[in-house]
Amino acid sequence: MRYRYLLFDLDHTLLDFHATARSAFFRTMQAFQVDVQHAHWQYYQRLNAQYWKAFEQGRIDVITLRIGRWRDLFAHMREWRNPREVNHYYLEQVSQSAIAIDGASSLLHQLHRKKQRMAIITNGLSQVQRPRLARSGFQAYFDFALISDEVGYLKPQTAFFDQAFRQITQQLGHQPQPEEVLVIGDSLEADIKGGNDYGCHTCWFNPKGLTAPPDLQPHYEISHLREVLMLTSPHTQTKP
Ligand SMILES: [Mg+2]
Repeated sequence: MRYRYLLFDLDHTLLDFHATARSAFFRTMQAFQVDVQHAHWQYYQRLNAQYWKAFEQGRIDVITLRIGRWRDLFAHMREWRNPREVNHYYLEQVSQSAIAIDGASSLLHQLHRKKQRMAIITNGLSQVQRPRLARSGFQAYFDFALISDEVGYLKPQTAFFDQAFRQITQQLGHQPQPEEVLVIGDSLEADIKGGNDYGCHTCWFNPKGLTAPPDLQPHYEISHLREVLMLTSPHTQTKP
């Protein structure tokens, strides 16, 4: 194999978190008898993104993230529901849903057949990500899954990647060079920055054709997951 190890992001890379979150949102609102329109879903997504950004930058803790997004949504709607209970129900809905990104299943199957060693690195909550990974049917392809909530650090922090490399070293029986590890993910701030900073090679999954800023350039950019096969083939001549 061209790379000794592949580190895959989970959400928006292998699993369609948007589809999962959307159906969980509407099921939760229905369960709590809140009458919501599409605009409320959009409003919630903006709130959630703001809270996640603040959490990833270390400005708020995980409890504030979990509760604040619902409290703010209901304040906006002039409704009152217990945000703690709503969040609990919502996370349960999310944890029961694993919808694969197009091409993920076939890619992982083919990489596995080639005996490519792989792991998951994800920023997320343990109680949500563990059941989703189990439900996805992908778990058997990976040596391990590293979840920020369990590690106590997030991508792109160095400490998160230190832990990933400790586990890779355990799996392989020796420590690989950073450039022998390819990080694949959709987030420039978490996956590409994290991988680049650590000295890994990075592959940006960019199906929407966005533009990366000059100071945050991945080694590779792909629009479909099948392209990972080309990058990891030992015969590929492309220089990163
Ligand atoms: Mg992602």
